[in-house]
Amino acid sequence: MATAVLLAKRGIFVDLIDLDPAWKVSGAGITITGPTLRGYQRLGMLDDIKAHGAVTAKTSIFHFSGQWVRDLDELPLEEGVPAHGGIMRPVLHQLMQERVHAAKIPVRLGITVTALTPKPGGVDVMFNDGSNGTYDLVVGADSIFSGVRALAFPHAIDPPYTGQGCWRISCPKPPSLVHGEFYLGGDYPAGITQCSADDVYLWLLEPDAAHEHIPDEALPARLRALMAGFGGNAGWIRDQIHEGSVINYRPLKAAIQPMPWFNGRIVLLGDAAHATTPHLASGAGMAVESALVLDEELAVSGRQIEDGLAAYQARRFPRCKDIIESSIEIGRMQLRHAAPAEHTAFVDAALLRLAQSY
Ligand SMILES: Cc1cc2nc3c(=O)[nH]c(=O)nc-3n(C[C@H](O)[C@H](O)[C@H](O)COP(=O)(O)OP(=O)(O)OC[C@H]3O[C@@H](n4cnc5c(N)ncnc54)[C@H](O)[C@@H]3O)c2cc1C
Repeated sequence: MATAVLLAKRGIFVDLIDLDPAWKVSGAGITITGPTLRGYQRLGMLDDIKAHGAVTAKTSIFHFSGQWVRDLDELPLEEGVPAHGGIMRPVLHQLMQERVHAAKIPVRLGITVTALTPKPGGVDVMFNDGSNGTYDLVVGADSIFSGVRALAFPHAIDPPYTGQGCWRISCPKPPSLVHGEFYLGGDYPAGITQCSADDVYLWLLEPDAAHEHIPDEALPARLRALMAGFGGNAGWIRDQIHEGSVINYRPLKAAIQPMPWFNGRIVLLGDAAHATTPHLASGAGMAVESALVLDEELAVSGRQIEDGLAAYQARRFPRCKDIIESSIEIGRMQLRHAAPAEHTAFVDAALLRLAQSY
């Protein structure tokens, strides 16, 4: 949606399709880091996120038992860009949809591509509803399981499991929570992100060598058991878990796709090209940054589209590779119970690199 809106703003006709007939996302929250907020500011959406999500200047670290350890004072990356934030995914999706509609982009739902044939100066596209068309450019921003990638990138890899699974529960804000919180030092790293004045979500990472599917009805009891030793606001959330709680569990997968990310005038973007784990909370940020960079590189006056795609890839590959490999490494450290000082130093260094301009 970010890419579609940016291209449409420059007067380019965009045809947007999505496989999901209901065009919606899971009820979980999402953490929006400073670099991601910087990306949303450039999309012109920072005020929307401030109004409908939550932004904070600080995160507190607690021992999982609830004992306060220290505060992380997170400095804003730029004047006017908050250090940290969160929002419920359906709210963010709705805000993005409003931008798509305001840009008068036609949207076709329940649709995917069934054949992509590159040809000089364009791509012939066949859709699953029997329609077809010829386009100057096809952007495959269609998730970690990208259908565009499967059709047009034979050298691509299936993102492998990382060995951890991520739990998320959405719930009302604990009364004493004032900003983000991390709970470390136990078997299951966890954190709470505020997503609006009244809502938060809690995430928790669990070793998952079996890549297990857990039926919905088993989720509340299992999460309650994992959080048995937690104190503080995490313990408060555990005590609110009930059979109707909005809980989501996903075994994690990640991969930087090998170059090239473009085949003629078909290009991959977002999780389709650079799917990461939540350890640096940067997947959405990387997708938005990639949209901004693709738009910038295509806008260079007098440039062929193929040259713009090569420039996009050259700018995005090293940064996305660093974020993905660092995120995977943080997960490995958690699995081997690395010393807190080693863990913190690694995360701090990765966050410093992430803060640099892209
Ligand atoms: C457990 C977990 C927690 C996470 N937490 C965070 C976090 O806190 N912060 C953060 O920044 N990131 C987080 N991420 C990562 C983030 O969710 C993704 O990086 C981000 O959603 C990628 O956006 P995308 O647009 O590339 O793909 P998606 O959000 O997956 O959107 C892809 C779209 O393409 C559509 N689609 C799929 N297949 C097809 C097809 N074949 N044809 C047509 N359309 C198709 C889908 O319906 C969807 O609308 C997390 C990820 C996980 C797994």
